[in-house]
Amino acid sequence: MSEPAAFPTTVATPEGIVGQLRALGVMPGDVLLVHASLRSVGPVAGGAAALIGALQEAVGRSGTVAMPSWTGDDDRVFDPATTPSAPDLGALARLFWQSEGVQRSDHPFAFAAAGRHAREIVRGPLPLPPHGPDSPVGRIHALDGQVLLLGVGHDANTTLHLAEVMAGVPYGVPGYCTVAGAGHVVRVRYRENDHCCQRFALADEWLRESGRQREGPVGQAHARLMRARHLVEAAMTALADDPLVFLHPPSADCEECDAARRSIG
Ligand SMILES: [Zn+2]
Repeated sequence: MSEPAAFPTTVATPEGIVGQLRALGVMPGDVLLVHASLRSVGPVAGGAAALIGALQEAVGRSGTVAMPSWTGDDDRVFDPATTPSAPDLGALARLFWQSEGVQRSDHPFAFAAAGRHAREIVRGPLPLPPHGPDSPVGRIHALDGQVLLLGVGHDANTTLHLAEVMAGVPYGVPGYCTVAGAGHVVRVRYRENDHCCQRFALADEWLRESGRQREGPVGQAHARLMRARHLVEAAMTALADDPLVFLHPPSADCEECDAARRSIG
């Protein structure tokens, strides 16, 4: 019989993660919107549940942790108790909405949240466009929340879609989702400011220039932390200058950005 493998030295502890989050600038009482790649954080003692516990401990009892929790399924009615979150939101988001004490919106563009402002963030009917001011991400912005990008880039940063809505960008591609009405099922069509999102990476330059993005390790991941208000302000300034700043130029042959360009009336 061989010896059981020893824990590699790279396993992070929840206490260590809390310390790293504090060093990054996460404060007790924060409303913290988390976009995360569990894989990039690497192994944590206690697993993904312990990482969620560490995020909650970092904001404390008066704080709130939120994550995106929408479905990618356009055709089926969303049930907050059973509908899986979209696979590209990752394993941490999937575990989070299923965790005890976590509340989830009851519409297809759901967010999940736990803590003091959870109900306020997830409440209400389907917001259209999906990420406008009266949506979970809009409420996190109104609450002066912080955005934590945990091993992911700004291409995952939904708050930039809020900035697009607030700036009134001229593009909007058609989408639909399915919701339950009074005793019947309704297909809701909408226009959404969507594209490939790769040029959301511009936010790195804008926020770094003004010292408004903290960066550092969390586990093995590279993490970015910023106030939602600073992010929206920087994006709206850039969008006022060029409303198409987030779209690839036609020469880049990006199918999604080209579709967004074609949608402009
Ligand atoms: Zn593109």
